[in-house]
Amino acid sequence: MISAQDYRYVIAGSGFFGAVMAERIANVLGEPVLVLEKRDHFGGNSFSEQDPATGIEYHRYGTHLFHTSQADVWAWINRFTAFNNYRHRVLTRHAGRMYTMPINLMTLNNFFGVDLKPSEAAAFIAERAGRDGFTNPANFEEKAVSLIGRELYDAFIRHYTAKQWETDPKLLPAETISRLPVRASYNDFYFNDIYEGLPLDGYHAIFDRVFADRRIKVVCNCDFFDVRDTLRPDAQLIYTGPIDRYFDYKLGSLGWRTLDFEIERPEMEDYQGASVVNYPDADVRFTRIHEFRHLHPERRYTPERTLIMREYSRFAAREDEPYYPINTPADKNLYDQYAALAARESNVVFGGRLGTYRYLDMHQAIGAALKSFERDVLPRAKGQMAEAAAA
Ligand code: FAD
Ligand code: UDP
Repeated sequence: MISAQDYRYVIAGSGFFGAVMAERIANVLGEPVLVLEKRDHFGGNSFSEQDPATGIEYHRYGTHLFHTSQADVWAWINRFTAFNNYRHRVLTRHAGRMYTMPINLMTLNNFFGVDLKPSEAAAFIAERAGRDGFTNPANFEEKAVSLIGRELYDAFIRHYTAKQWETDPKLLPAETISRLPVRASYNDFYFNDIYEGLPLDGYHAIFDRVFADRRIKVVCNCDFFDVRDTLRPDAQLIYTGPIDRYFDYKLGSLGWRTLDFEIERPEMEDYQGASVVNYPDADVRFTRIHEFRHLHPERRYTPERTLIMREYSRFAAREDEPYYPINTPADKNLYDQYAALAARESNVVFGGRLGTYRYLDMHQAIGAALKSFERDVLPRAKGQMAEAAAA
């Protein structure tokens, strides 16, 4: 039985938020810290591992691309890994043909059979986008049609979104589509950030290095709630699990989507020629196929087999892994109520995507942890040190 008695600092969850906090507590405060992880591995959803059958490194919870424009986040992660020069591109397969995603000049020209120049593309899209007359779009569908027009929406967005969210796009918030740019050029990079790449020796190696610090003790297969009663009265808890679970779901459950991944190892070197291909048509049940070998062009993987992963999306039951917060108005309201309860918990920091019920990219989780350490942990620790010195 694990006891938290010996630790002033206890972290529930070993994803990026918990890992950054552990590193800061150990290095800046010089204090021992206990990290509890309920899964049988650390690293949270960013975890990667080598497939024993093919030798290919894959991401157990879906392809994770690292990208950021935040200099402090980039500096932090570069202390624990170097990156390759991979830049993410996505293809989408509609009606038996391949197109680039996000929608760019290549998508437009191929889809409409035209030969637009960059200077002509905006007017071409605007004319189509204006046809439905959504000047004040109130939901996902209206917003998307007002941005790209009905034909592109029906081909690339409508069914993909319905599969991903199992919700009529008319009932989804308009903001979700704003994540996807539309470009009047042949730029086909998925992200616009300054820094991008895959960790040269894998995400798991980053966590190995962070947690190698002798002041950090990580215990896997350990649910924080089994250890909660052993916390010292003066313990500082950093909780990165689901906020509704912390309060025993007493106000109800927050809505999440989960994913099912189906792995296959076809006997060929290259299955689809790209790391991610989206499937936006209604007659295909999965949303996309990941092929991990393409994330590391610098490696020499076996030519005999490859590893692919089909991704299916569905509502999460309480026992499923929560992946994407659904964020309906009712969810937002419920989260606000839980956040009000959380604010009253002294000595507890709620962080990360589960603890704050927010979709966070890895760089955002790291950035949020760096800030939270400075704001929530450091001042209290300094206060305690000053008190101890005065005593
Ligand atoms: P997590 O990584 O979820 O870590 C939380 C940890 O807490 C988990 O290990 C969990 O097991 C543990 N835990 C929960 N409850 C308890 C408990 N009671 N006791 C002990 N441990 C507990 N980001 C990108 O930047 N690029 C991408 O391409 C990208 N792709 C993604 C694809 C998918 C399908 C998903 C779902 C996410 C993707 N992300 C991506 C986001 C990325 O996974 C998150 O930014 C990151 O995981 C956030 O870290 P975290 O520490 O907040 O949460
Ligand atoms: N989307 C789509 N077709 C695509 C890719 C994305 O309709 O080929 C929509 C979908 O609703 C998705 C949203 O755009 O939820 C945001 O896309 P993003 O790639 O950010 O989603 P993620 O990779 O996080 O699932």
